Amino acid sequence: PVKFKPVTWREVEDGCARIAEQVLSKGIKVDVIVGVLRGGWIPARLLSDYLGTPVMGALEIKFYRGIGETSERPVVTQPLIADIRDKVVLVVDDVADTGKTFNMAVSFLSHYGPRRILTAALYLKPWSMYRPDFYAEETDAWIIFPWDKAETVEELVKKRGLTLEEAARITGEDLGFLK
Ligand code: 5GP
Ligand code: MG
Ligand code: MG
Repeated sequence: PVKFKPVTWREVEDGCARIAEQVLSKGIKVDVIVGVLRGGWIPARLLSDYLGTPVMGALEIKFYRGIGETSERPVVTQPLIADIRDKVVLVVDDVADTGKTFNMAVSFLSHYGPRRILTAALYLKPWSMYRPDFYAEETDAWIIFPWDKAETVEELVKKRGLTLEEAARITGEDLGFLK
């Protein structure tokens, strides 16, 4: 049985504030913030605010299973447009779970000549093969973010056969409009 951890907007803000404190306490000046779409975008935007770094870019990375492949691998489906040459870059995602997305993001961005690549995630799973430089909290639960409640409810109902009411109790939200 999967453990769920619904997080509130307030907890998202607090987590990003803790990450910002860690970055600032090291005296690091970030030039460009890159959000990993879609889950990393909102934390990336908050960090842009807290760190005073207005320059942002986005990188979309999706999991893809090729023909005959047994395991999924991440693929960059929207490349970065922002110029990161000689820049200090902070890559932000919502969670590092397997760590494959961060591995892919870092190796992709490293081809564009950044001065330094730093990484941050709100949550880190203990088994991740990639440890971001900054994170707010470690957890082994499935995190439900304020921005993915509806898709989580839909998955719980469609794939696991829960009622909408049971799914709403898990996500902490009344999403009756999904009916
Ligand atoms: P990875 O396994 O490559 O580290 O993470 C891939 C993506 O899966 C992350 O960018 C994130 O969007 C999603 N993900 C991983 N764990 C969770 C989780 O506990 N909750 C949610 N909502 N998304 C997750
Ligand atoms: Mg993601
Ligand atoms: Mg996601």
